Amino acid sequence: MPAYEIIRHTYDAVVVGAGGAGLRATLGMAEKGLKTACLTKVFPTRSHTVAAQGGISAALGNMGEDDWRWHMYDTVKGSDWLGDQDAIEYMCREAMQAVIELEHYGVPFSRAENGKIYQRPFGGMTTHYGEGQALRTCAAADHTGHAILHTLYQQSLKHEAEFFIEYVALDLIMEGGECRGVLAWRLEDGTMHLFRAHMTVLATGGYGRSYFSSTSAHSCTGDGSAMALRAGLPLQDMEFVQFHPTGIWGAGCLITEGVRGEGGYLTNSEGERFMERYAPHAKDLASRDVVSRAITMEVHAGRGVGAEKDSAWLHLEHLDPAVIHERLPGIAETARIFGGVDVTKEPIRVIPTVHYNMGGIPTNYKAEVMTLDEGSQKGRVVPGLMAIGEAACVSVHGANRLGSNSLLDLVVFGRAAALRCAEVVKPRQLHHPLAGDACDHALARFDRLRHADGTRKTAEIRLDMQRAMQAHAGVFRTGQRLADGVTRLGEVAESMAEVKVSDRSLIWNTDLVETLELENLLAQAVVTMNAAHNRTESRGAHAREDYPERDDENWLKHTLIWLDERNRVRIEYRPVHLHTLTGDVQPIPPKPRVY
Ligand SMILES: Cc1cc2nc3c(=O)[nH]c(=O)nc-3n(C[C@H](O)[C@H](O)[C@H](O)COP(=O)(O)OP(=O)(O)OC[C@H]3O[C@@H](n4cnc5c(N)ncnc54)[C@H](O)[C@@H]3O)c2cc1C
Repeated sequence: MPAYEIIRHTYDAVVVGAGGAGLRATLGMAEKGLKTACLTKVFPTRSHTVAAQGGISAALGNMGEDDWRWHMYDTVKGSDWLGDQDAIEYMCREAMQAVIELEHYGVPFSRAENGKIYQRPFGGMTTHYGEGQALRTCAAADHTGHAILHTLYQQSLKHEAEFFIEYVALDLIMEGGECRGVLAWRLEDGTMHLFRAHMTVLATGGYGRSYFSSTSAHSCTGDGSAMALRAGLPLQDMEFVQFHPTGIWGAGCLITEGVRGEGGYLTNSEGERFMERYAPHAKDLASRDVVSRAITMEVHAGRGVGAEKDSAWLHLEHLDPAVIHERLPGIAETARIFGGVDVTKEPIRVIPTVHYNMGGIPTNYKAEVMTLDEGSQKGRVVPGLMAIGEAACVSVHGANRLGSNSLLDLVVFGRAAALRCAEVVKPRQLHHPLAGDACDHALARFDRLRHADGTRKTAEIRLDMQRAMQAHAGVFRTGQRLADGVTRLGEVAESMAEVKVSDRSLIWNTDLVETLELENLLAQAVVTMNAAHNRTESRGAHAREDYPERDDENWLKHTLIWLDERNRVRIEYRPVHLHTLTGDVQPIPPKPRVY
């Protein structure tokens, strides 16, 4: 075994990731008196959550009537009935308290005339079970994620959580089916660190970077989910990838749905407001999958805009510049820098861009990771392991997430993880001894990539993967395209044997970081393509041209997918929870889709 000196740490709980989910959990655990470490590969306030613009949903009813039951209904409908209704009930009824708690922690929310937290309309958010338009999304102008992240980081420091910044978590340390901690590599000085903990929480975010065009940060490589796969655990519902309808053409940067919430609208090359045809009721504020498909269909019909005729116009120029200045200042800047337009004068050219991963590490609503033993129908909790945020699949978003429900998911389930952890872990509880070779597997992988001496650059293989994902698992899918995608990704995964890492050092070796990340991305690309090929229906963000209908008889179930060391997958299923958590609200039976 390679000789790496390992520096050992023991904690009650270790959280991997310092985005909104990781920080909320870290703060909650530290508040409960648990000795808590938070590891992060980027500085906490640089986590992708910082980029969240539009806002966070909660039925506060500050600017019109609202009810958490309507929010629950919208979320179940938005999920195309794949969301677990017990978890959705939990999230929507906890939402109001979670947002007010954020306000008390210090998040500087924008204000309505009456001094209460300002709330804007967002796609799919309605009143009276689909009748009216809800004003439900709480915003700090168009930098809500930034405000939340900074506040949670400050609060975590106040409660003396310990941060390990620019530490790259490599793999989970598992023993007898239990998680015992995590091994990490410190970039600053190249040292290896073993964090033993009674609870390890994966809060590592999504894997948007497996696609060519994505709104997510370069750090969104789904490391935690790949660690779960390598630990022999399944991922859930990986076929569901959300495309945001309004990424800036060419750059991929996001233009928030909040723009349409404030009155922005889309047109095609004929100047037509085409959303009126696709979603007569919700129009430009229909849910994201609907708008993304509508733009794609306009493009296919030859009505796309721009020289390539592959995009649509997003108009804000009719809005009062004062509104843009006050409510959407960041958007004006992003459009100027990345799209070269002045939004008060001309429209922005937009194209559907990968935005969010509904799939991830399966958990219950207490954030505990769940698995399924072979031959068994009943899931079981994996001791010592939790997952939260975009890395997790609770599943509150089912087949499609509603805008502003992710920030809510982060804080509600980050908090739930802390509460549950405080129930199962006692502060300063003793640690069982760990086998001497517990880290060998993780170190062997690290060492293999560190010394990789093939012929292909990491960036080349990454581009092959991103192109394959974009071409074969896009907005519209067919059996043939997906089958070809499975073959193509198999080849790309095999080409990892030929990868070359030029830098052999251990200090700030970004070449090696990117290679480790690429292997993580590839694992998730492979399971995504396979799961998409396997699901022969259309539901939420998964639109199959060859199976255009939703098929509740055969497919009202979650996909669980495992990956072995030779990139072969195994698929099983878990029933959707169509029951609620309490008797306060009735389950919402599946209904046909109407937009
Ligand atoms: C541009 C954009 C705008 C968005 N706007 C909204 C919005 O308005 N409303 C909304 O509800 N949702 C929005 N979303 C979605 C939402 O912001 C994300 O889903 C959410 O922020 C993810 O948070 P997270 O805490 O799960 O992970 P992230 O914020 O992605 O953080 C991941 C953390 O994990 C750490 N990490 C990862 N791998 C490792 C490793 N190997 N070792 C150590 N640390 C690691 C990183 O350092 C980071 O701290 C938006 C997303 C994007 C991309």
